Amino acid sequence: MKDITGLMIYYYFVCKRKLWYFCNNISMEQNSELVALGKIIDKSSYKREEKGILIDNTINIDFIKDKAVLHEIKKSKSIEEAGIWQIKYYMYYLNKRGIENISAEIDYPLLKETKTISLEENDKIFLDEVIKEIQKIISEDKVPNISKNNICKKCSYHDLCYI
Ligand code: SF4
Repeated sequence: MKDITGLMIYYYFVCKRKLWYFCNNISMEQNSELVALGKIIDKSSYKREEKGILIDNTINIDFIKDKAVLHEIKKSKSIEEAGIWQIKYYMYYLNKRGIENISAEIDYPLLKETKTISLEENDKIFLDEVIKEIQKIISEDKVPNISKNNICKKCSYHDLCYI
């Protein structure tokens, strides 16, 4: 069974097909201009913070401030739900390992906005189910069907889905 990373949680909410491609080692991200933009924002935002904190090779927190506030940097709110569940998963993951009293924020530097995120008891139950479903999706032999949506045009897998 694969360890579930924060990016896998993110892709689960963005598109199940994208999740399958990614977990089955089909990568086209390096060609995406949007990914390049994300990396530039990552590098230039919050310069004073220690960034890219990788825990257990599984969750990669953008930075931690004031000891217990996790931060995730996003360039836009276009797939906001996915970003919210990604950072909730970081809290869930740390909770499972006995680390409590942490809070989280999503930073949108281009919008100059910050959103506070909390992890509720029912979120933990929901994430248990999401994890099971991710394991099921990624172990299938066949890629999930295309679910046409407005992010397809910007997706790095677009050419693969719409040949
Ligand atoms: S192009 Fe659309 S359907 Fe294909 S992986 Fe990307 S988001 Fe999913």
